Amino acid sequence: MTTPSQAPIIRLQGVEKWYGNFQVLTDINLDVRAGERIVICGPSGSGKSTMIRCINRLEAIQKGQITVDGTDLTGDSKAIDTIRKEVGMVFQQFNLFPHLTIVENCMLAPMRSRGLSKAEAQERAMHYLTRVRIPDQAHKYPSQLSGGQQQRVAIARALCMAPKIMLFDEPTSALDPEMVKEVLDTMIGLAEDGMTMLCVTHEMGFARSVADRVIFMADGKIIEQGPPAAFFDNPQHPKTQQFLGQIL
Ligand code: ADP
Ligand code: MG
Repeated sequence: MTTPSQAPIIRLQGVEKWYGNFQVLTDINLDVRAGERIVICGPSGSGKSTMIRCINRLEAIQKGQITVDGTDLTGDSKAIDTIRKEVGMVFQQFNLFPHLTIVENCMLAPMRSRGLSKAEAQERAMHYLTRVRIPDQAHKYPSQLSGGQQQRVAIARALCMAPKIMLFDEPTSALDPEMVKEVLDTMIGLAEDGMTMLCVTHEMGFARSVADRVIFMADGKIIEQGPPAAFFDNPQHPKTQQFLGQIL
């Protein structure tokens, strides 16, 4: 594993967000160093998805500041375009384009927003499909693949944009149990290559072996965080203890 450098690539300062009258995020402060691997966990509805969606500006915030790779996300739409290219995201639902083949799914964004030629995009797509170990599925359509294979395509598709940061929002939650490992193995490979990763997941084995830091959220706040061993073996906050008691 590479050693994470010290410069924060993501910085959230005093972030507050409301949906109407409902405050979903309260005073979120978080620095992520380049190369750091973070697992975010917490009860359903605690604001995990909202927080990571704010990091690639799928959601706007009402107060505070988010900086990603030196770009202030509260800035103009050009800043947002810049960030979207640098931050890849993988969702619980794979969100592949059903009418495009696997390789076409991977070629679209690099051609549209990175200016790659068709040949370059295809070469890059095949490179990452090989990396997630499904080059042989390239000319099929998403519906012809298993859930685990589709999720690996979603990861390859994000990687084709050459992002500096990868966000995962419960990437294995919609999968049949026998397919969870193949997706986690792909994520472990990425971590070993030094990718900066924020993963919302309740896969605690993954968190223990891969995370540099585990963050626990409840009621829209970061309640507790620490290295996995300390977090799992000696949680401090009663809400963390209660949560871990339910899932472990
Ligand atoms: P988590 O990912 O931890 O389960 P979410 O970030 O999805 O939590 O949601 C946090 C809270 O915000 C929940 O109470 C949810 O119902 C609410 N919420 C999420 N998205 C919206 C939305 N678009 N409009 C209104 N409320 C929302
Ligand atoms: Mg969620």
